[in-house]
Amino acid sequence: MELYMTAEDEAFRDEVRAFLRENLNEDVIRRSNTGMHPPNEDDRRWWNRMLAEKGWAASHWPAEYGGTGWSHVQHHIFELECRLAGAPELRWQGLRLIGPVLYTFGSEAQKSRYLPPILKGEEMWAQGFSEPGAGSDLASLKTSAVIDGDDYIINGQKLWTTEGQYCEQGFFLVRTENSDRPQKGISMIIIDMKSPGVTVRQIPMINGEGSTCEVFLDNVRVPRENLIGEPGSAWVYAKFLLSNERTSSADIHKARADLERIRNIAAHELKDGKPLLGDAGFRRKLAALRIEVDALEWSVLRVMHEAPSRHPISACASVLKIRGSSLQQKLTELMVEALGQRSLRVYRRDEAYAQPDGNPLWPAYTPGVTADLMYLRSCTIYGGAMEVQKNIIAKLAFGF
Ligand SMILES: Cc1cc2nc3c(=O)[nH]c(=O)nc-3n(C[C@H](O)[C@H](O)[C@H](O)COP(=O)(O)OP(=O)(O)OC[C@H]3O[C@@H](n4cnc5c(N)ncnc54)[C@H](O)[C@@H]3O)c2cc1C
Repeated sequence: MELYMTAEDEAFRDEVRAFLRENLNEDVIRRSNTGMHPPNEDDRRWWNRMLAEKGWAASHWPAEYGGTGWSHVQHHIFELECRLAGAPELRWQGLRLIGPVLYTFGSEAQKSRYLPPILKGEEMWAQGFSEPGAGSDLASLKTSAVIDGDDYIINGQKLWTTEGQYCEQGFFLVRTENSDRPQKGISMIIIDMKSPGVTVRQIPMINGEGSTCEVFLDNVRVPRENLIGEPGSAWVYAKFLLSNERTSSADIHKARADLERIRNIAAHELKDGKPLLGDAGFRRKLAALRIEVDALEWSVLRVMHEAPSRHPISACASVLKIRGSSLQQKLTELMVEALGQRSLRVYRRDEAYAQPDGNPLWPAYTPGVTADLMYLRSCTIYGGAMEVQKNIIAKLAFGF
């Protein structure tokens, strides 16, 4: 594996940078830099369209479905440059989660109906796996799908559905048959989120936002052709999808951008009348995190490089998930530390989103920092709790 940039990679990076310079504007960058979960979808959809026009929206998909055929290093360069430039973060549920499931396991009709709108940012997707009684123990899910003529009738409740309020489509795990093995009899089905009987209710979060939802399914009628793959076999597809989710959870590009954000805050905030960035104690902490980010970046690249030759459900995805999520928490903790007293106001991004505050007490780097710190307490839970990942590693890597 070659991880160093070749002259070709350098030229590619210049091309990406030129594209970002030409197409991003200051308002979009300012809004993106307020952190995670924008209060509306406009920038993301617009950016998805821009990238689709360029042929770069789903860079990691196979070329026949609109991917680019880039090398792993080029993907990495692209995502990193987008983050560093302040491009809106694309919705990953469609591009990263269900897209690959559809082109790997879906029918031809599903591929041609659903992949193009994902690629162009025209349809956003919700992930309907977890339920009130089924999180870590996902196989105990109860939402049922019963055949009625050409349709399934679906009843149940999903929980923690990220940004479900914005979505046109959802991929849901449902029980189509009861079996003595709980993993058997679970199917994956596509539900149009505007179908009669679907109710989406936002859950107020500790940071004042409502980025996750409850989804109630009450006699929802769904065509049988919306079932993905074989009935009762979704455990295989779900594990494939969750492995991709966990690898993405390492979010190395966000980690790199966070390091820059911390540097920027510390360059402006003062300690004893001097920039905090010059303080030896603070610099030590920043350097320690930088080393952790470097180490994770190399690990992610190594796993990406080896992925085609490995079974996708490997302990590696869980290792990256554990390292990446705990690193995200450490980075936001140091960001809050750099912000000092200004972090005491939970300055939500929606307050700063429409226009800059202009108040010198709350510089442009303030909004979203404390809100993200609070939100990211949950990143060692979503995508599979930390303890459960450790169980997976123990089983797959050490055979316990
Ligand atoms: C912000 C956020 C966004 C989310 N987005 C989505 C989404 O879009 N779609 C979706 O389907 N789900 C989503 N989830 C749900 C997420 O996947 C679950 O929260 C997660 O799987 C844990 O399930 P649980 O919350 O039911 O906790 P539980 O399963 O009840 O676990 C509680 C605690 O018990 C411990 N525990 C459980 N089982 C074991 C075990 N076997 N060994 C050791 N310890 C154990 C874990 O440490 C865990 O923290 C989201 C969650 C959050 C917090």
